[in-house]
Order: sequence, then C-alpha cells, then structure tokens
Amino acid sequence: MSQTSLLLERLGTLMQQSVREEAAHHGLLPIHIQVLHYLSRANRYSDMPIAIAEYFGITRGTVSQTLAVLERKGLLIKTPDPRHGKRLHLGLTPAAEIMLSASWPERIEQALGQLPVGAADLDDCLRRILSTLQQLNGQRAFGLCRQCAHFLNERDGARCGLTQEALATEQTVRICREWTAPRPACV
Ligand code: SF4
Repeated sequence: MSQTSLLLERLGTLMQQSVREEAAHHGLLPIHIQVLHYLSRANRYSDMPIAIAEYFGITRGTVSQTLAVLERKGLLIKTPDPRHGKRLHLGLTPAAEIMLSASWPERIEQALGQLPVGAADLDDCLRRILSTLQQLNGQRAFGLCRQCAHFLNERDGARCGLTQEALATEQTVRICREWTAPRPACV
C-alpha cells in the first residue's frame, strides 16, 4: 500500500469516527447527519430523495426512513416545487443549520486553511482520485455547479446549459447530480 492510499484510508476512518460521534451526540445515526450535510450543499436539482439515494449508494427505502426521522426531529422541511406538481425539495430547518454549524466539516475547513500548498492543487488531485473511483463504482460525480461543463456565465447572470434555466448565485456554489466534467483544454 502506498503512503498516499494509507493517508486517504486514515482520513476516511477519522471522518467516519467524527460522524459517528457527532450523530450519537444528537441521538441520531451517522446516515442522518450525512444526509443533513448533503442537503446543506445540494442544489435545487439534487435536494430530492432520488439524489440522496444516488449520492450515498443507498436504497430509496433507507432514504425514506432517514427523511422520516429527520422530519420527526424537526430537522427537515419539505417544500413543493412551484413548477413540477408532485416534486418536493428537501431543506434544513434553522435547528438543523445550528447543529451543522459546529460540525466536523468545519474542522476540516480549519485544517485546510493551515495548509502551505495551494488549495486548488489539492482539489484537483482529490477530484481526479474521486472521479476514477466513482467511475469504477458506476456512480454519478456530483460536482460543484460552477465547475460543470454545462455552466454558462452570461451577461444577464448564470444559466444551466442542460436545463436552460437561470441559476441564482447561491445555487452555483452547490453540488449537482447532473454535473458533467468539463472537457480538458486542448494543448
Ligand atoms: S450547470 Fe451543471 S452542475 Fe449546474 S445546474 Fe446545470 S447540470 Fe447542474
């Protein structure tokens, strides 16, 4: 095993441990906390049960049970889509946002802020590793909207080239299940 895979494994284990401890602290299961984290970053095409199932590689039944627990605990709200009748968007309640504000991703952000190397280089390496593993597992990439091949930055504002819909600025920094890797620039 190379040093890099050892470090990645160690980081993964440490994060799982943090999630378990945090979930136990709030009387939740790890998947409950992970779904809340996911929803705090998902865009409007991805804040739905089907996207949660794809992101975590879990069944729709598990997603339904998870959402029921989160709703019962006052951590989740469902908002009907104004244009698509039965579609529901899932979001966090203020209580859930407070819960996540002191969560383990904050600690990762602090650690990243202390790195001597450029964050963009690290992002690039990690993205490549993730992309390779996702392809092996047959999973969707779920990338950042601004870095998608369909992202259009026009004079009137941002637009999604796939759906042709306008994108509010706050949506462009969220993750999307329809994300597509940009083509590498020709050399
Ligand atoms: S530009 Fe890409 S990431 Fe953004 S909403 Fe459209 S498909 Fe999703």
